[in-house]
Amino acid sequence: MKKLLILVLIAGAVFGFYQLGGEQWLLPATYQELYQDNPWLTAGIYFSVYVAVTALSIPGAALMTLIGGAVFGLWTGLLIISFASTIGATLAFLMSRTLLKDWVQKKFGQYLNTINQGMEKDGAFYLFTLRLIPVVPFFAINLLMGLMPISAFRFYWVSQLGMLAGTAVYVNAGAQLGELEELSLAGIMNPGLLGAFVLLGLFPWFAKSLLGKYQVQRNLKARAHGRAKPAKFDDNLLVIGAGAAGLVSSIIGSATKAQVTLIEKHKMGGDCLNTGCVPSKAIIHAAKVVHESQKGLQSGLLKGNIEGIDFDKVMEHVHGSITAIEPHDSVERYEGLGVNCISGSGKLISPWEVEIETADGQQETRSAANIIIATGGKPRVPEIPGLDEVDYYTSDSLWDIKKLPAKMIVLGAGPIGCELGQAFARLGSQVTMVDRSELPMPREDDDVAQLVLESMLADGVIHKAGRSITELNKAAGGGYTAKLDNGEELAFDALLIAVGREANTQNIGLEELGISTDNNGFVEVDEYLQTNCPTIYACGDVIGGYQFTHVSAHEAWYASVNSLFGRFIRFKSDYRVIPWATFTAPEVARVGLNEKDATANGIDYEVTQYGLDDLDRAITDDAATGFVRVLTVPGKDKILGATIVGPRADDLISSFVTGMKHGLGLNKVLGTIHAYPTYMEANKYLAGMWKKKQVSAKLLDWLGKYHKRKLK
Ligand SMILES: Cc1cc2nc3c(=O)[nH]c(=O)nc-3n(C[C@H](O)[C@H](O)[C@H](O)COP(=O)(O)OP(=O)(O)OC[C@H]3O[C@@H](n4cnc5c(N)ncnc54)[C@H](O)[C@@H]3O)c2cc1C
Repeated sequence: MKKLLILVLIAGAVFGFYQLGGEQWLLPATYQELYQDNPWLTAGIYFSVYVAVTALSIPGAALMTLIGGAVFGLWTGLLIISFASTIGATLAFLMSRTLLKDWVQKKFGQYLNTINQGMEKDGAFYLFTLRLIPVVPFFAINLLMGLMPISAFRFYWVSQLGMLAGTAVYVNAGAQLGELEELSLAGIMNPGLLGAFVLLGLFPWFAKSLLGKYQVQRNLKARAHGRAKPAKFDDNLLVIGAGAAGLVSSIIGSATKAQVTLIEKHKMGGDCLNTGCVPSKAIIHAAKVVHESQKGLQSGLLKGNIEGIDFDKVMEHVHGSITAIEPHDSVERYEGLGVNCISGSGKLISPWEVEIETADGQQETRSAANIIIATGGKPRVPEIPGLDEVDYYTSDSLWDIKKLPAKMIVLGAGPIGCELGQAFARLGSQVTMVDRSELPMPREDDDVAQLVLESMLADGVIHKAGRSITELNKAAGGGYTAKLDNGEELAFDALLIAVGREANTQNIGLEELGISTDNNGFVEVDEYLQTNCPTIYACGDVIGGYQFTHVSAHEAWYASVNSLFGRFIRFKSDYRVIPWATFTAPEVARVGLNEKDATANGIDYEVTQYGLDDLDRAITDDAATGFVRVLTVPGKDKILGATIVGPRADDLISSFVTGMKHGLGLNKVLGTIHAYPTYMEANKYLAGMWKKKQVSAKLLDWLGKYHKRKLK
């Protein structure tokens, strides 16, 4: 009943305002005339109208502020308006609270819990920022705040304080307008008026930047746990982790003359050099040599027999490759580039400081204006009963293997499982690949995965599709057994776990500093690769997403440039054109959309496919399996994505990566001379197929008729 009465009163007041010609009180002339004779009365009327307009949420508060400035001048105007606007806003707040708060909180309370908690904790600051930079209209703030858990008294004083600067800028603009004697160019060009309008334009920007700075300081203070910001830093940039992400971050820092320290707890080069790309590609090479030799024997090109492979030599090649590449990522090289390298484990202890436990057991604390977390990832190991009993391998430990396993189970058929499983099969292990999915490499189109699977089966891999391991046991006569979820038992002597990767975030101080991680445990960053702690950035595998060496390096550029120069200029990380390759046989390379992604996202596409069975070079190499597939915007020369399956797919994809990155279409590929006979020609033939589809049938019909005219 009480609420209904208030509603009726409000409606009546708004109606009355317009019925009684209230609009005239929104015009400057009304007040200017009155003010000469009756300053107090005028101020009283103006004050009351302002309160009514804001309390009833009638549009016109900004206009009234300008009028107030014009009529009363800066200081008197500011005094009147500051109180009138705050009192009016508080009345609107109280009305909204009385009429709607209980209903809203009852109906939506469960959804509003987080907002309510935030408001109770930080409501005053939140309101202050809204008042200073009104991203939401003035009247909406009043009404919305009425629904939130903030006291009327707090609402009043925060509003008055928060609106003061903005009100002053508006009143000043009004005052300058009021002094305008005539509407002439000379009048308008008056420095006072121009200055007032420049201030009006710049105020939101200035307020935002000031508020931003204050928020950063507040954020940092909350995470510092009493540790003061050092007056001077040891470094401009401190990087934790010397994998691809950390190395590139440091190089960029030192190239821009920043003092950079790079901390690595294990081996320079991280996963890619020591346990990832390099050893895996080296063992794939060894397996390919064996495979090609066997092919040579089968085809009769070679005579005799292969007595067996020398696994020690295979591993020698693997470790030899690492040793040969090591200098690229070495301490010597990086120190030569001006980076201070420390061998030790780094832990964040404040937004500016890292505690380092050095390799020789010493403790050291270093400070920096900016810190980059580049601690990478590690293989995920699932919980399987009996796993403790088994000396299993992951991609981290596989490279210490001494003997070629006779029977190997590879758990997981993603890119790593497929690459390594196929390599061991080609080297002579009996490999069984167990995976929950029906097809390997689930990110790729099904027919692409099918081609890879067929090739692996031909190499002797047994594929247990749609299966998982439920139990592992030691076998009586040595070795182990794995029980699958269909009850089947597999004997094996080596198990390789390749079921995905997780972030390396343990003991690096994330919890202590309140740095957020996502649901999968990866460090959360914004599009500038900044964490929720303003001085700390992160890049590479530790932030999840695409987990490739080249993406880590790409992200490192954004993390280092944004952290070092963010106060002047910042760049949003760009993931629009990211290529990748899986080094199975046949290789698979991708950029942009495949058919699976396009269909899932409802994106229209035109598909063109060229089979490598038609390519001269692939035929002469006895490698004519696979295809080049390109998705384009229907009717347009714009590449949406490309997938290549087959030999040299990793290199061939570059044509389309360049095309997508620089806005070049298939016409440009077609118009480029490619050497004969090369695999690259496949891309040109594909472009030709696409072009043929674009030419109108009608035009060809006319051309046929045109030529026919000249024939007998
Ligand atoms: C088997 C395998 C094959 C792969 N093949 C390819 C491929 O062909 N192409 C490709 O692009 N990508 C490949 N990858 C992925 C690639 O290796 C990663 O994407 C890349 O290494 C990520 O680099 P990063 O710098 O983010 O992390 P990492 O390389 O993991 O480096 C992180 C570093 O941080 C160090 N660290 C961690 N915690 C601390 C601490 N507290 N203090 C100091 N140091 C710390 C670690 O010791 C490590 O050296 C492969 C990965 C695997 C496992």
